[in-house]
Amino acid sequence: MGFFTDTSVCIGCKACEVACKEWNMIPEDGLNFTGMSYDNSEGLSADTWRHVAFIEQRLPLGEQETSGARPASAGGGGAPVDLGMPSFDLPGAQTGEAERGDFRWLMSSDVCKHCTHAACLDVCPTGSLFRTEYGTVVVQEDICNGCGYCVPACPYGVIDKREDDGRVWKCTLCYDRLGDGLEPACAKACPTDSIQFGDLDELRERAAGRVERLHEEGITSARLYGDDPDDGVGGAGAFFLLLDEPEVYGLPPDPVVTTRDLPDIWKHAGVAALTLLAGLTATFVRRRG
Ligand code: SF4
Ligand code: SF4
Repeated sequence: MGFFTDTSVCIGCKACEVACKEWNMIPEDGLNFTGMSYDNSEGLSADTWRHVAFIEQRLPLGEQETSGARPASAGGGGAPVDLGMPSFDLPGAQTGEAERGDFRWLMSSDVCKHCTHAACLDVCPTGSLFRTEYGTVVVQEDICNGCGYCVPACPYGVIDKREDDGRVWKCTLCYDRLGDGLEPACAKACPTDSIQFGDLDELRERAAGRVERLHEEGITSARLYGDDPDDGVGGAGAFFLLLDEPEVYGLPPDPVVTTRDLPDIWKHAGVAALTLLAGLTATFVRRRG
């Protein structure tokens, strides 16, 4: 089981962040503007298990335009309907369209990827991190000893130590809710279905169809991220539909499981130790002789 996050329909309402905090009783960690965007929660951390990034770009919107009628090919039905809601002028609206230039806002709700080959799980010495019956990766906080080995091991920078208690915390994909047959809180709260929860094969099929449709509508930059079971982490249990390169969203373009080379390292260390031992034994025997 896993998540498909379709960033092309995210409206940045942050309901997923709030629902995650409420359900998991995660402490408040301040509202901090970076000065670089309107985002007020900076990034994933021990106290932010879902994070909605706001990325501003000086680029044309293409058919994502919301200022006019949506094209028929995109399922639009003509001019916008007045719902009687209070309105206001968009910033720069008085200066005329030519003066405003092109601008788009990418929004994306990030989370632990629940990797198929999870380095965090590989390096945990206490067994605090474990793979659940749903294929997800969960931390048992009562067993975590706070050694922090998992923090640098995660190729996505997801898992984090809470400063006041020294233990690590991250998304559990609402393990407790799954046990009761409920979907994760973030997916339940998302008003646009940007976050979808379900069987991974089914989600991948749905995601491929969505990319195809966006391409037909002229949004050729749409692509999937983390859906490939042959990638460096064996495919992620949380994958994304992005509208630009992964780096734009702060995601590594080619993540690899950081423990990939451990067997080789141990093999070489073993060979080196045996060689040293053989050398010492030979010296000792020669001296005795
Ligand atoms: S994203 Fe990081 S914390 Fe999440 S399962 Fe993968 S390695 Fe572990
Ligand atoms: S709840 Fe859905 S639409 Fe709102 S910010 Fe989260 S992913 Fe985006």
